[in-house]
Amino acid sequence: MIMPNNLVRQYSLHADEYKKKAEEVLDSGWYILGKEVSAFEEEWAMYIGSRFCVGLASGLDALWISFQLLNIGVGDEVIVCANAYIACVMGITVNGAKPVFVEPDQYDNIDADKIEAVVTDNTKAILVVHLYGQACDMTKIMDVARRYKLKVVEDCAQSHGNHWHGKTVGTFGDVGCFSFYPSKGCGAFGDAGAIVTDNEDLARLFKIFRNYGSEKRYHNMMVGSNSRLDEMQAGLLRVKLRHLDEFNEERCRIAANYDMGIINPLIQKPMIRPGADSTWHQYVVHVPGHRDSLAKYLKEVEIGTLIHYPIPPHLSEAYTYLRYKKGDYPIAEKYADEVLSLPMYNGMTEEEQGIVIDAVNRFEG
Ligand SMILES: *Cc1c(COP(=O)(O)O)cnc(C)c1O
Repeated sequence: MIMPNNLVRQYSLHADEYKKKAEEVLDSGWYILGKEVSAFEEEWAMYIGSRFCVGLASGLDALWISFQLLNIGVGDEVIVCANAYIACVMGITVNGAKPVFVEPDQYDNIDADKIEAVVTDNTKAILVVHLYGQACDMTKIMDVARRYKLKVVEDCAQSHGNHWHGKTVGTFGDVGCFSFYPSKGCGAFGDAGAIVTDNEDLARLFKIFRNYGSEKRYHNMMVGSNSRLDEMQAGLLRVKLRHLDEFNEERCRIAANYDMGIINPLIQKPMIRPGADSTWHQYVVHVPGHRDSLAKYLKEVEIGTLIHYPIPPHLSEAYTYLRYKKGDYPIAEKYADEVLSLPMYNGMTEEEQGIVIDAVNRFEG
C-alpha cells in the first residue's frame, strides 16, 4: 500500500535527533514558552527573512489573531480565493468579518486579475493563500493592495520556504501565517503555528495576545487568548528546520519525476506560474470528468490519494449563513470535482514513485 502521505518516513530519516531533543525538553522542567520557543522564533524569522516571528498554537490561530490585531471584524470584508481550505475562511469569520471570494486561475491560486472587481468600501484586507506549496502572483496582489490601502495577510501553511521572484512568501504582506500541523512542510509532532512580520509593534501585540493579553504576569492589557507554543513542539521544529531545505528539494525531485513520467491525456499535471516556485506540499492533478474513477482505480491497486478539497468553502454547511449557492463560483466548484492529490512525502522511494506513475499512465477512464 502506498499511502497519500507517510509521516513515519520523514521522521525516520532523523529519528535520533528528535529523540535527543525530546529528552532534553523533558529533562528541562520548562514546557511552555521558554528558550526553545524563543530560539525557534528567531530561527524561523531568519529562515523566512522577516524581522519577527511569534510562535502560536496553530495555523488557524495565526490567521484569526492576525485579523483581530489588524482590527478587522464585523462589517469588514476580506478577499480570499474561492478554492481555499476551510480554515482560511474560518480565520476571516471568527471575528465576524465577511469573506469575499475570488475564483482561482489555472495555477490553482487566486486569480489576481479578478481581485480589483470585488473591492468595495468595506474591503479591509486580502488573505493570500499560497495553496499546495506554490507562491501566488504577489506583484499583482501587492499592487491592488497598495492602490486600495488593503492589509495583506499571507497564509503560508502549505508554503514553508517557497518564493515569488526569489523573495520568500510570508514577507510580502503585513503578516505571514504558518501552520506546523504534522503534514505541513516543517511539520511538528502535534499542533503548532506562528506568524512572521516586520512590524515590531504588531509582533509585540501577538506576544501579549497569545498569553491572555498579558506581558507582565497577572497584568492583563487586553482580552487575549491562550495560543502559546510549547517547548516540545518548538524544540522538535528546530530540528526539522535544520533539514527543511533538504525536504523541500526532495519534494521537488519527486514532483519532477511525476512531471516527466506521467503521460495520460485524461490527466492534467500541475502548472507553476512563471516567477513562482513550489515546495510541493501536494502534487495535485486535474482529472476532468474522471477524478472519482481515477481515485477508485488507484485504490484498487493499493495507491492512496486525497482530495484537496472536495467542497469549496462557499458551499460548506458551516457557511450556509452566507447564503451562497451552487454555481456562484463555477471554477472553484469545477476544481473541487476534478482535483486529486497523488502520494507525496519525504522518504518516498523511486520505486514507489514508479508504481504511481505506471498506474496513473495505465488509467483509461
Ligand atoms: C493547515 C492549514 C491551515 C490551518 O492550520 P492548523 O494548524 O491546522 O490550524 C490554514 N490554512 C491552510 C492553507 C492550511 O493548509
